[in-house]
Amino acid sequence: MAQAQIIDGKTLSDRIQDEVTAEVARLKAEHGVTPGLAVVLVGEDPASQIYVRSKGERSKAAGMHSVTHRLPAETTQAELIALVQQLNADPAIHGILCQLPLPKGLDEKAVIETIDPDKDVDGLTVLSAGRLSQGLKALVPCTPLGCMKLLRETLGGSLAGKRAVVVGRSVLVGRPIAQLLLQADCTVTIAHSRTVDLPAVCREADILVAAVGRPRMIQPDWIKPGATVIDVGINRVPFDNPQKAAEGKTKVVGDVAYKGALEVAGAITPVPGGVGLLTVACLLHNTLTAAKRIAGLDA
Ligand code: NDP
Repeated sequence: MAQAQIIDGKTLSDRIQDEVTAEVARLKAEHGVTPGLAVVLVGEDPASQIYVRSKGERSKAAGMHSVTHRLPAETTQAELIALVQQLNADPAIHGILCQLPLPKGLDEKAVIETIDPDKDVDGLTVLSAGRLSQGLKALVPCTPLGCMKLLRETLGGSLAGKRAVVVGRSVLVGRPIAQLLLQADCTVTIAHSRTVDLPAVCREADILVAAVGRPRMIQPDWIKPGATVIDVGINRVPFDNPQKAAEGKTKVVGDVAYKGALEVAGAITPVPGGVGLLTVACLLHNTLTAAKRIAGLDA
């Protein structure tokens, strides 16, 4: 069997960035609206700092008004809530994102629920999740939205009738992906840590989405030949090369045993280079959508 098509996240992410940039320019010129994104980072988590920098840079590159609030790890719940309320009231801001995880001691759910649902560009408020589950207009979490864009790009317009298995049921990733696949008329199974005979469940999938957080857990013989595999996992592991591993060097791998999967799948996202790149592109897309809706325009 031929080797799987490698689904290229970079090309699609660049294209979304270009489309958003053009649309931001049009929105400014025709309606006098500049989409504004506020990113809030609390504490010093190194991975979060990298993500936040990239979100700031790429929203600016798209022509957006972009502000990053960097707060110390000692920030109190009341201070953080007050900042979110201030951003809710700021007419120059259309999208608010609190970078997760928050430092211990801060109540993530309470902070997220303070975000005005119209500005909830991460799609994490209960109202956004409820709208999504009822098939209503919603701001959709960025990573799941990116997965759908990759799937449509790979498989063409319609996913109707395909059997989809999502491994993982988190509020951030697994559940919203399953909702989006259901909206696309797939027959959807959500698997999790209590699923019996996970390999057999995975083997039923025309579309297999892995959102587990366990390096290379999904084995090649769990994949139906020709299936499309979307690997959401981002896991840091030591290098295979013993010398590099001994130096403490690490690399990023997905939830799928990629090399073997290439021999079985029809198409697969690499890690890195796949889903991760779409997440920021979809954040820009959501900020643009929020700005249009707040301005009373179609989106
Ligand atoms: P969570 O830890 O919140 O959820 C993991 C899910 O996997 C849970 O539903 C859990 O089941 C399930 N699970 C854990 N172990 C097993 C197992 N042995 N068999 C079957 N299911 C299992 O993780 P997230 O959803 O937040 O993230 C998942 C992955 O995606 C992580 O690697 C994360 O880094 C990555 N990620 C990538 C992003 C990107 O931009 N590409 C963005 C966000 C996340 P149960 O509910 O039963 O405990």
